Amino acid sequence: MTTKYNLESRDPEVYKILRDEDKRQENNLLMIASENYVSKAVLEASSSTLTNKYAEGYPGKRYYNGCKHADEVESLAIERLKKIFGAEAANVQPHSGAQANMAVMMSIVKAGESYIGMNLAHGGHLSHGSPVNFSGLYFDVHAYGVREDNQLIDYEALAKLAKEVKPKMIICGASAYPRTIDFNRFREIADSVGAKLLADIAHIAGLVAAGEHPSPVNIADYVTMTTHKTLRGPRGGVILTSEANEKEMNKFMFPGIQGGPQMHTIAAKAVAFGEALQPEFKEYQKQTVKNSKALAEVLLSGGLNLVSGGTDNHLILVDLRNKDLTGKDVANRLDEAGITCNKNGVPFDDKSPFVTSGIRLGSPALTTRGLKEDDFKKVGTLILDIINNMNDDSVLANVKESVSEICKSYPTDFLRI
Ligand code: PLP
Repeated sequence: MTTKYNLESRDPEVYKILRDEDKRQENNLLMIASENYVSKAVLEASSSTLTNKYAEGYPGKRYYNGCKHADEVESLAIERLKKIFGAEAANVQPHSGAQANMAVMMSIVKAGESYIGMNLAHGGHLSHGSPVNFSGLYFDVHAYGVREDNQLIDYEALAKLAKEVKPKMIICGASAYPRTIDFNRFREIADSVGAKLLADIAHIAGLVAAGEHPSPVNIADYVTMTTHKTLRGPRGGVILTSEANEKEMNKFMFPGIQGGPQMHTIAAKAVAFGEALQPEFKEYQKQTVKNSKALAEVLLSGGLNLVSGGTDNHLILVDLRNKDLTGKDVANRLDEAGITCNKNGVPFDDKSPFVTSGIRLGSPALTTRGLKEDDFKKVGTLILDIINNMNDDSVLANVKESVSEICKSYPTDFLRI
């Protein structure tokens, strides 16, 4: 119903931008590994009146009145999250994954002290010690990476580095690592030097929740994650830990690094966690991995080099150096064809992060849309067509047509039901 108060009539300019974004998400193949489509229920909770509410503090211990419903929804989110991951304690207030990491980092490492994180250029994240991020600015950061021969995490080099540095903390977890992470191995290395272990499972959170990737919960001291990637919730972060660390975790989150929690987002997190507890969620994560593997198979047989030779999870890193192409050019050309992914550095890349020698492809969003292995194989052939014919506009036109057909076969209706 149109009223003078709704967005369309109140602000047609913003309304149009939002409807155009709906169309972009409907008419393109979204293959950015960190993105997904949330359900209508999550969207509805995200835009609820809880956006009006200040609720500094925690359920039952707020600095403001009127928090009855804020308490109810935050407690529900915490309980559901603990149940999903079998954790003793949870904090659902981080505005983002980087905030979650910041709170944990501040609780373990003091300014000037050392910790070890994964090299950004080898698949780590900005908030794991990059010199341009808070995580690299105030601490003595050392980095581990992957081996040059097989592009798998170099646990031996990490163990050696840990002995030399004697860090307060080791961070494991990555943004662009297509293989299974051995959390027990990280624990052993951390224990060998008395370091705390932070596992950032932002990318693989949904896979871990569904048992499609081993869990670091009750192995690492702290587990952080984003809620908007494979976990398929609203944008945000969360932290898990033991009962023994709960007080520290909460203190460093608020008042440590954040003010009022975004209660509408916490409500949407609660909804997403409820969805993650359903049996269909397990099926979805299984399919996400199957689809990623099917895509990898086609790309490999088409002559592309994949970092580590394939994938165990929801993402693939294509190394374009044998094709003499840059990640930037390929990602832009794919985007013209309606396939949206991101340029990404590959291990030992000699190109800048703005150019790169790789692209990162992910299966979570298209799997939510309903695509199965055969569809991903078809998408793989379209990607190969573009990469092998970068300057051919007739190939571009054909791929665009095929993308459009796939999008029509898998409408994004579920966002509106
Ligand atoms: N940690 C990892 C491993 C990530 O991949 C990301 C985001 O891509 C983050 C943390 C940060 O999440 P956010 O963008 O919500 O701050």
